[in-house]
Amino acid sequence: MSIQLTEVSKTFGTFQALKSLNLTIEKGEFIAILGPSGCGKTTLLRLLAGFEQPTTGEIRMNRQVAAKPGFSLPPEKRHIGMVFQSFALWPHMNVTEHVRFPIRHHQETPAHIRDKEQERIASVLQMVGLSQHGTRMPHELSGGQKQRVAIARAIASEPSLLLMDEPLSSLDAMLRMDMRREIQSIHRQTGTSIVYVTHDQSEALAMADRIVVMKDGGIEQIGAPQDIYLRPQTEFVAKFVSKANLIRGRWNHDRFVPAGADGSVEWQGSRVAEYFKSCGLYPVRPDQFQLDSPDPSGIPGEVTNVQFQGKEFHYHIRTEDGQWEISSPRQFHLRDKVSLQLPASEQL
Ligand code: ATP
Repeated sequence: MSIQLTEVSKTFGTFQALKSLNLTIEKGEFIAILGPSGCGKTTLLRLLAGFEQPTTGEIRMNRQVAAKPGFSLPPEKRHIGMVFQSFALWPHMNVTEHVRFPIRHHQETPAHIRDKEQERIASVLQMVGLSQHGTRMPHELSGGQKQRVAIARAIASEPSLLLMDEPLSSLDAMLRMDMRREIQSIHRQTGTSIVYVTHDQSEALAMADRIVVMKDGGIEQIGAPQDIYLRPQTEFVAKFVSKANLIRGRWNHDRFVPAGADGSVEWQGSRVAEYFKSCGLYPVRPDQFQLDSPDPSGIPGEVTNVQFQGKEFHYHIRTEDGQWEISSPRQFHLRDKVSLQLPASEQL
């Protein structure tokens, strides 16, 4: 399903939860809505589902008006599937009954249609890896299996749009990784458009075709994961998605001279948004610095926090200019004195 939002806003009382959103989603696209708590992600999803009406603006689905002030196509007519963070399974239904529910036919339905229903249930259960567990009740399932049932139920009726609200946030880290792959595989197999709400940047970067970054009810940036990660357009996106350090300095046409570098380092700034140029900043990601033992050629600093992350360490370093986030394969310890080397232009 293709979706078009034009100047959509949503107000609760005097509070504006969504501010004039414009967004086009192509048929079959996997879109992640990424942003911190309270930025309006769930409200946007509820507008798409038809549980809320826009205060202003218009939502079109497959070019037909689905919602505008005073009109809203009811949820059951929108051909959507929904998956919630809480799974929302029915305790009295087994796995097969959950999947049958959205496609259920009456007893009087001809046998060949009921056979088709059985085929569909079998194929959906296979898609989510639950073929062996059709008779299990929710209390007999693990968290990951419950989430699979919720996904199976949502895709059973072959919806044109699948809405997912933080579907993995109640699973443990290992399961989350497995389920990411499964959701990607389901997307490939069904070709359904997906709108996936998350506050986890790594989830959005890993799965989506495009990411919509939201802040305070507005859209900060829309783009492919690499685009958002490598070319943030605002300070918020740079920090929230890339964990970038914002380096102060001076712009000399399209070259950036970091403060304190005395002209020894200059960065080609053509990839950086006008936003950063206008405020004399340059976003540098944690992996773009080099961390060394104290050395007069670098910026002196002290380790204030260390996290081991497998292939590298993630450090907080205090320098005269403030706190920096840096990742490095080299091991240092809390309170170690270190030297920070700014990247050369070609390393950016
Ligand atoms: P989270 O990640 O915490 O779920 P979110 O980005 O999904 O947050 P929303 O649930 O969309 O945020 O809420 C956006 C803002 O709108 C919040 O400040 C919230 O308090 C407010 N809000 C949402 N629904 C209502 C409502 N029915 N009445 C009043 N305010 C609401």
